[in-house]
Amino acid sequence: MIKFEQNISLQGLNTLNLPAVAEYFATLTDPEQVTEIVEFAHSNNLSILWLGGGSNLVLADQVPGLVVKIALSGVDLLTEDDEKVVVRVGAGVNWHQFVEQSVENGWFGLENLALIPGTVGAAPVQNIGAYGAEFADSCHSVEVVDLLDQSLQQLKVEQCRFGYRDSLFKQNPGRYLILNVQLKLSKQFTPNLGYTALDNQLQAMGVARPTAGDVFNAVVQVRSSKLPNPEELPNAGSFFKNPVVSAQHFQKLKTRYPSMPSYADELGVKLAAGWLIDQAGFRGLRDHHVGMHADQALVLVNHNGATRTDVDQFSARVAGAVLEKFAVQLEQEPVPYP
Ligand SMILES: Cc1cc2nc3c(=O)[nH]c(=O)nc-3n(C[C@H](O)[C@H](O)[C@H](O)COP(=O)(O)OP(=O)(O)OC[C@H]3O[C@@H](n4cnc5c(N)ncnc54)[C@H](O)[C@@H]3O)c2cc1C
Repeated sequence: MIKFEQNISLQGLNTLNLPAVAEYFATLTDPEQVTEIVEFAHSNNLSILWLGGGSNLVLADQVPGLVVKIALSGVDLLTEDDEKVVVRVGAGVNWHQFVEQSVENGWFGLENLALIPGTVGAAPVQNIGAYGAEFADSCHSVEVVDLLDQSLQQLKVEQCRFGYRDSLFKQNPGRYLILNVQLKLSKQFTPNLGYTALDNQLQAMGVARPTAGDVFNAVVQVRSSKLPNPEELPNAGSFFKNPVVSAQHFQKLKTRYPSMPSYADELGVKLAAGWLIDQAGFRGLRDHHVGMHADQALVLVNHNGATRTDVDQFSARVAGAVLEKFAVQLEQEPVPYP
């Protein structure tokens, strides 16, 4: 029998440290419990929030319905040949710990995604990415419960509609419960370099021909030096996606701001949201409880005692200033709930 508790604080369960309280709360430790959870929610007319590490959520003070903490464990080697392995990983496994374990086991492809907080089950939701790699590159399939009919499905990578910080799961909030993820990882290591910060770090480490362990360590060091640790300064990582603008709009901006960083994108030109926020005057700016980080203008931080309202009001100010100065609309990356 699952314990359904009432009025449970989620403050320690979200990396922004927002003072949210769940109407009902339960923990999922075994896929067999899904039916009981869904029946409880249906019979009490409750919506369900599947909660991983809470590192990509902006929670309201009162979270109505049932919050289910995903604690599904397990790492199983499914297939192996000379070149690759397919590994099934439980949704509740810590992402970074699995990346570390995969490097130790000689399963390559995830090194650039080291130190991203959260769980394996949330990785497909926004198709996590960093340093030129993204979850989709190593995804074999995602095992889900489709809550429309409670069917178990194994969705192949091409069915998951992965895009930049986007997926089928993000587009259909609440519909899919991710139970396991199957990753296809290479047994031959091919470094994925070309990011200045990463290349510089490897150089500083005196590494000319990096192993997977070197890249893993370099990513950990670069990220630790650049990003605020949520345990010290609560945050949800990048607060906005990098916006994509038309080539025409980009040309206008580039003429006016020649130093503006940009990247080719299949839909137009991608701009660096952090640079836009910095130029709009928000880097290091604080308004009472919240602010944009002084070293990473893209990271909204909770200095102390912030609520969802503080976050919403401040992020709207930031997005408004960027819109006014550059005519570029920023889109929030962490999921607001509800
Ligand atoms: C310091 C910091 C750095 C970060 N850096 C990066 C980065 O480099 N790249 C990047 O892409 N992201 C980054 N993030 C964002 C975040 O870590 C990722 O999005 C991560 O995958 C979220 O995992 P989580 O378990 O905390 O998810 P949660 O925040 O708990 O949930 C996020 C969303 O996924 C849903 N969800 C979670 N688990 C499941 C499940 N099993 N089934 C169905 N839905 C589920 C939730 O309902 C919610 O909608 C960073 C965050 C922080 C705080």
